[in-house]
Parts: sequence; C-alpha cells; structure tokens
Amino acid sequence: MAITTNAETPEQLDEMFPKLDEAQIARLAAFGVERRAQPGEILFDQGDSQHGVFVVLEGSIEVANVAKGEETVIRVLGPGTFTGEVNQLSGRRSLVRCRARESSLLLEVDRANLRRIMQADAVLGEKFLRVFVMRRVYLIAHSVGDAVLIGSSHSSDTLRLRAFLTRNSHPHTYVDVEHDPDVQTVLDHFAIRVEDIPVLICRGDLVLRNPTNAEAAACFGLNAGIDEASVYDLIVVGAGPSGLAAAVYGASEGLNVLVVESHAPGGQAGSSSRIENYLGFPMGISGQELASRAFVQAEKFGAHIAVARAARALKCVNPPYTIELDDGGSVQGRSIILAAGAQYRKLDVPNLEQFEGAGVYYGATPVEAQLCGGEEIAIVGGGNSAGQAAMFLSGSARQVHLLVRGPGLAETMSRYLIARIESCPNITLTPWTEIESLEGNGHLERIRFRNVKTGTSELHEIEHLFLMTGANPNTAWLNGCLELDAKQFIKTGADLGPEWPLLRDPHLLETSVPGVFAVGDIRAGSLKRVAAAVGEGSMAVQFVHKILAS
Ligand SMILES: Cc1cc2nc3c(=O)[nH]c(=O)nc-3n(C[C@H](O)[C@H](O)[C@H](O)COP(=O)(O)OP(=O)(O)OC[C@H]3O[C@@H](n4cnc5c(N)ncnc54)[C@H](O)[C@@H]3O)c2cc1C
Repeated sequence: MAITTNAETPEQLDEMFPKLDEAQIARLAAFGVERRAQPGEILFDQGDSQHGVFVVLEGSIEVANVAKGEETVIRVLGPGTFTGEVNQLSGRRSLVRCRARESSLLLEVDRANLRRIMQADAVLGEKFLRVFVMRRVYLIAHSVGDAVLIGSSHSSDTLRLRAFLTRNSHPHTYVDVEHDPDVQTVLDHFAIRVEDIPVLICRGDLVLRNPTNAEAAACFGLNAGIDEASVYDLIVVGAGPSGLAAAVYGASEGLNVLVVESHAPGGQAGSSSRIENYLGFPMGISGQELASRAFVQAEKFGAHIAVARAARALKCVNPPYTIELDDGGSVQGRSIILAAGAQYRKLDVPNLEQFEGAGVYYGATPVEAQLCGGEEIAIVGGGNSAGQAAMFLSGSARQVHLLVRGPGLAETMSRYLIARIESCPNITLTPWTEIESLEGNGHLERIRFRNVKTGTSELHEIEHLFLMTGANPNTAWLNGCLELDAKQFIKTGADLGPEWPLLRDPHLLETSVPGVFAVGDIRAGSLKRVAAAVGEGSMAVQFVHKILAS
C-alpha cells in the first residue's frame, strides 16, 4: 500500500470502483440481505462502524467526504458497484458518508459474511481486498476523513502524532502553524491558543490538546472490536514484522488471535525508508508499506489488533496466561507469542531527550525527510540502517555527515551500501567520531563532534541528527518471569537452562514458560533482520497449534 499518490486518472477511479458481474452478485446474494433505500437516506455516516458492504442492485448511491460541515461527493455508485474500504475488515469507523441518491435496491453483506466470502471465494476475495486497499490509499492521499492535526515542525509531540497517524494508515490533514497561511482561521474557529499545539481535531469537532497516542486511538475508534472478556487462542505482543507474521499465520489457520501493540504496526521496520533485502521485493519496499500490507493481511484473516496499548506485565503462573496492559486493562490467552522487538540505543548526552523529535530522530521516513529538506544533517551509526538512512536522506538533505566511532564501515555495513555511499557526492563519512554535545533552544541548532583519537572537538550548525546505533530488547516489563540472557534478550528452545519445567523438550522458539514463545529481535540469538523475524513469527504458530492440542 503506497501512502502517497498523485491525482487519479478516470481509469484509476474506475479501477477503484469496479462493477461486479451477474455471477459474482449471485454468489454474494447467499451471504447478504436485500433492502430498499429511499432517496436521500443515509446508509452510513462518517464515524459509523456497524454497517456492512452495500452492493447496488438498482438505482444509485453516493460516497462523500464530510469536512468542516461540508460534503464533497467522491463517487456516485451505480448498479453492480459496491461500498467499503479496509475499515470494513477491522470494524473501525467509516471515514466517509454514504447516501442513496434515488430509490435503490441494495444487497448488504455484513462484516462476518464479508470475511467468509473473502476466505472462501478467491476471485471475490481478491477483488474486494484490492479495491479496499486502493480506496484507503486514495483516502490518505486526499486527507479524507475525520482527523485534522494542527502542529509545528519544531514540536516533538507533533512529530509523534503525525508518525502515529501515518503508521496506522489513518488519513489526516496536517496544518503547520509555522507555514500555513490559513491557520489563524482554524485556530479561531476552534478557540485554540498557539500554546495548545499540537491539537488534534477528531471527528469534526472534538478538540484534543496534545493527546497521547492512546487518546488519539480512542477518539478515532482504532481499537474497535477488542473483547477483553474473551480468552484468545493466541495473544501476540508487538506488531512489528515478527508479530504481524504470527498474526497472519495464526488467524489464517483458524486461531482467535489478538495482537497488542504499544505504538503502531510496523515496529522498527516501520521506520526503515527502504528494505532491499526482503525476498520478493527486488526494487525494495519501505517499512511502512510492508507493515501496512501485513496489517491488512492480518485483518483480512480476522486477527484483532489493538494499537497504543502496551503490555505491562505477564502473569506466568498457569495457562490461560494474563497480560496486564498499561491502561489498566488485561487480556487472556491460551498461548503467547512475544514479539516486542528492541528499542533504539540512545546517545550518552544529558539533554538528548529535550531534542528527541525536535531535531533528533530514530527513523528515516518521508516525514523526517520532509523536515530536513535542503539542510545539513548528521547520522550516527555504521550499520545497514545508518547506511540506508544516509542514502535515503541524501535525496532531500543538502549534506549528510555519517559519523562512526571506528575506522570505517567495512566491518559493520553491507558492501552494496558502502559502494553506494562512496559514490554519493553529498554524503561525507567521518570516522573516529562521536557526539559530544547538543545545543539549541527548543529545537536542535548545533552539534559538537569529538574525534575519539585526537580528543579535539568541532561545533557544527546542524539542526537534524539521526541516531542509528542499534537496539536493546523490550523485556523490562517481563519482570523476571522468563529466562533472559546476559543482555536481557529472551532465551528459547535449546538455549534454555535447568529452569525449563517440563519432561518434554521445549519447542523451538519456546521460552522458559511452556506455551509462551519469543520471536524476532527480542529473542536471544536472533538475526535482527526482517526476513528472519517474519520467519520466526510464522514458525512459532506451528508450535502454538501443538500447545493448544495438548
Ligand atoms: C531504521 C532501520 C532499518 C532497518 N532496515 C532493515 C533492512 O533493510 N533489512 C532487514 O532485514 N532488517 C532491517 N532492520 C531490522 C529490522 O527492522 C528488525 O530486525 C525487525 O523489525 C525486527 O522485527 P520484530 O517484529 O522482531 O521487532 P520490532 O520491529 O522491534 O517490533 C516490535 C514491536 O513491538 C512493540 N512493543 C514493544 N514493547 C511492547 C509492549 N510492552 N507491549 C506491546 N507492544 C510492544 C513495538 O512498538 C514494536 O512495534 C532495520 C531496522 C531499523 C531500525
């Protein structure tokens, strides 16, 4: 799912709103209910979530965007065409309004039946999914929907909220107080003071001042359909590549799966500008795009995905296992896959936090690239993620300084990337260098580099610093419940010591608590690659089946 697109041609619009043929409508009829709609009747409104997909049998209906109280018709749908986009899979709220233009005969297929058709009928399933994804791309590209973010490019919370909405593929309009000429009208209309920035206007009129990600998720209904009273077959903690793979395989094989994600789908890979070594994508794929595709795939098979909800504790006593969440809730699962990955390593500079998101970044996506367009930037790190970031950002930044503490890149970076960096005129490799201090007022303004060999330091007028120096595992919340290695990664399978409690051998990827698995970067000995994480997430589901059957 690409996130941006240019204006659509009439052919592309036709492709987005295709007609079903008579045979396809006949197959759908068994799963739906016919109903008449009166002229002007609203079939579902922006914010509604209970409706199904409507297929027009006779007459016509229109799909419209509603913004600032005004309606703009996106498309009129005639006989054979149908409503719906990816929200239809998750049960999240509709981003558009749909009404009958004239007396019309419709076939409504509810969500449960839609999922049945998508799994049982390959042709219809592919048709719906393809169209739903295209429509979501359209909604994002045209900022259609119920979210307006007013912020500043100098504010770390603005960056946080933009990243959260973008990584959840939630369409939104961004208004920058620094650059948008019409901003005062919007501020006056909603009685917002500049000190309140960032402000999220949710569903047209609800004004959230600097909301947390969880508040934003609640307002847009991103966690609709999560049932805390259920005991799930499988709970996956983390929606990075390994967790999403576990969700896709688990749900597609009939398990009732819940994924709990503290931020947004994608994990570390979601912050990667271009992954070039993932099988099947010879031209590379952005982490965001890979995550969006995996997210839709997991939802297509019926996995439930909760975002902005972090696991805070795992009760390891007996199955079903309870996971306590940071908002006070808890969920239960007969088996658990821990896929919480790792967190970026930080710089040992006292005022680092003050510049995080305000000049200091841990990911290099189009959002960050836009912020530092035409400017001088520094990247710290000698691994592949630093190399990719350097190549990607060299396309928009004026000058890129790549700083490494050692003599060069040969030991730590793939050869193809080193070759590209060497031939890129606006990337300068600076070896034997570390960051001594950061300076600025609100936003990063200057960085002091220190040569670790000579001890000399230099001040540079650089306002954007990217830290790509590796990661520590997200295991602190497990609080001694599982066996970890010296670096706090989770031990699994044959690596487990005498703490393994059963007579049978542990399964591959099984932790010291039977029925609890660890996959991807959080696991001791993992490869720290997207493909490896996806492979482990998929494999673990095979062992979950064995646990559930025992
Ligand atoms: C910038 C960058 C570029 C990269 N490029 C490549 C590349 O080109 N090729 C390659 O193969 N690899 C690349 N990698 C490495 C790759 O991204 C990781 O190996 C992969 O993402 C690991 O997947 P994972 O699912 O195990 O963990 P993660 O991707 O770390 O995902 C873990 C998820 O768990 C969530 N989480 C954490 N704690 C909790 C909690 N308590 N409760 C709920 N959720 C939680 C996190 O928010 C996160 O979404 C790159 C990494 C980075 C940072």
